[in-house]
Amino acid sequence: MLKLKSSREIEAMRNAGLVVWEAHQIAKRLVRPGATTGEIDQAVEQFFHKKNVVPLFKGVPGRVPFPAVCCISVNDEVVHGIPGSRKLQEGDIISIDTGCKLKGWCGDCAYTHAVGQVTDEVQKLLDCTSGVLQLAIKLMGSRSRWGDVASEMATFVRDYGFSVVENFVGHGIGKSMHEDPQVPNFCSPSFRRKHDFDLEPGLVIAVEPMVNIGTKKVHVLPDFWTQSTNDGSYSAHFEHTIAMTEDGPLALTAAPQSDEEKKMTGVVTTTEG
Ligand code: MG
Repeated sequence: MLKLKSSREIEAMRNAGLVVWEAHQIAKRLVRPGATTGEIDQAVEQFFHKKNVVPLFKGVPGRVPFPAVCCISVNDEVVHGIPGSRKLQEGDIISIDTGCKLKGWCGDCAYTHAVGQVTDEVQKLLDCTSGVLQLAIKLMGSRSRWGDVASEMATFVRDYGFSVVENFVGHGIGKSMHEDPQVPNFCSPSFRRKHDFDLEPGLVIAVEPMVNIGTKKVHVLPDFWTQSTNDGSYSAHFEHTIAMTEDGPLALTAAPQSDEEKKMTGVVTTTEG
């Protein structure tokens, strides 16, 4: 069952999304050669604690409960990487995915960062993956069904010569991190027939393209969580929590826009003169 949200509920989700955005600013500043993925996770955990919000990822059930507040996936790791003692190196890429619940409402967002200088091909992968998320947000304002957005996303990635991961998809989000519907980044005939949905006001979904340089195929590592590409090629992942409103799509985990939002996140604006 697809639960549409009222404009008030979407406002509450925006507040959660702003905390997630701020967590990402803290994480991003720590990305450099020599930093460990565990340090980044700890900084985000401390920030969530200070903000008095509930981390969404820690304790998620599996063969072993997920042990951290961020999924951190490096290079050929696609998603669900476990932060730890791994040291980042020049030329790595690092996907940081995190989320929190504020006053009962969830926000979920991921970015992939370059560690120092990366190769041209890897930079192209980052541009493609962030670009396809931006494309999806834009298309959500003009298409009526998700399947139309998803099939254009797949074409965009194919034109780069990269592949869309199909084993993992985005999701509805609200009071729970994972709600209906499933939100694939590609469109199959069976999705169109059985699972497609309208892009109507009140819909809130986490859109999260995962793009690989090589094969789309992935496998899980012995830690029971980390998903890695089968051919060892690099993978990027970007995600926003996006609401459909009467005025079109709104990325709830994007940077603060109004002065009021900037104040909430402690972003200082300087006025000259
Ligand atoms: Mg997600």
